[in-house]
Amino acid sequence: MRLQEAPLADLLAQAGRSPFYEARFAAMGAPRDRDSLAALPLTRKQDLRDAYPFGLLAVPSAELATYHESSGTAGNPTPSYYTGTDWIDLAERFARKWVPITADDTFLVRTPYALMITGHLAHAAARSCGATVVPGDNRSLAMPYSRVVRVLHDLDVSLTWSMPTETLLWAAAARAAGWQPAHDFPALRALYVGGEPLSAARRARIGDLWGVPVVQEYGSTETGSLAGECEHGRMHLWADRAIFEVYHPETGEVTETGVGQLVVTPLFREAMPLLRYNLEDDVEVTMDDCPCGWALPTVRVLGRAAFGYRVANARITQDRLENLVFTLPAECGVLFWRAQAEPSVLRVEIEVPDATRTAACVALTELIRTTYDVPCEVAGVSPGTLVPASVLTGVHDVIKPRSLFGPDEDWSRALLYY
Ligand code: AMP
Ligand code: MG
Ligand code: ZN
Repeated sequence: MRLQEAPLADLLAQAGRSPFYEARFAAMGAPRDRDSLAALPLTRKQDLRDAYPFGLLAVPSAELATYHESSGTAGNPTPSYYTGTDWIDLAERFARKWVPITADDTFLVRTPYALMITGHLAHAAARSCGATVVPGDNRSLAMPYSRVVRVLHDLDVSLTWSMPTETLLWAAAARAAGWQPAHDFPALRALYVGGEPLSAARRARIGDLWGVPVVQEYGSTETGSLAGECEHGRMHLWADRAIFEVYHPETGEVTETGVGQLVVTPLFREAMPLLRYNLEDDVEVTMDDCPCGWALPTVRVLGRAAFGYRVANARITQDRLENLVFTLPAECGVLFWRAQAEPSVLRVEIEVPDATRTAACVALTELIRTTYDVPCEVAGVSPGTLVPASVLTGVHDVIKPRSLFGPDEDWSRALLYY
């Protein structure tokens, strides 16, 4: 792609300023163009961890604007950092939405602010478009679901950013507060979602529940937004801002399209250039024409969807099973489920009201049987079993820590927030 050539030369020069790539280039020669870039080994997540914290830093540290770590739980942290200029590119990419962010919008950010980039990314993008940002971090005890729903309702929130699962929890919390998601939130225009795989049926259910478009996004803390949706429901890779490759770990081969791991070279990076960074996400990239007319590849993020558990003679994946659960008619009222794949039986629990319990269990058993042909046990459990009512309605006291207490006060929580 012609668009990629000029920034690539600058990027390669910039990369050579970080200790990590300086060492790599010293060993194998500095890449100068697309062809020599292709000869460079992939940069792995493990390389980022080994270089923790600042082995990939390519600017004086005074130029850094933010430092982040991605959401992984195990092992050493995976760091990323950005300059103010990097942030312009980051915010622009996130702001590419077919339901655009405007100055009239009130935008609820409901992803983490602690260490990850996601909350800050949406925050910066919404600010850059002039929207009013409501920072509602989903991992803060100061923002329980009851408060989210109150804010959505009372502030006329028009756009939100969260994981898809969050929007189901809000729907349940809204009902617990006496509101109907599709009727009592008339200001809502779209739900921006990302961060986890989303099956077609669940996506459709979320859109129906809230009565607004669900706009999906794909990205990571190390790269920012990589793809976003067009109005035809396909996610397109931002190939004008990054070079994408598909890596096939079994053969070591790299292709432009196909199914494999997504490898990314973001083109506009000052603080932490990444060359051929393997995100280790399973994806499918195609160059099919899309009615939107964007000349950008399409991506389907399989993520862990590709990964599954064996039951009898079938491999059960979350993505397909989720799709079956949300294929149940909306009237069944199923929002939450869990499953355990045992070697000889698939156990599924769905939260479902008494009135539709039998019908929902029979229907899901049938769907699973015809799809997988494995022994399964589907149990309907009462609402509140998987997601306790207290989670949807509770409010925590989150107070500033203090040391002095009055004679009748409980001083056992001195110095603690909660
Ligand atoms: P983090 O780097 O902690 O911000 O998490 C990024 C990871 O979340 C990606 O590498 C993907 O595995 C996953 N992810 C983000 N968006 C999506 C999406 N739309 N569909 C599936 N997985 C996603
Ligand atoms: Mg990550
Ligand atoms: Zn399209």
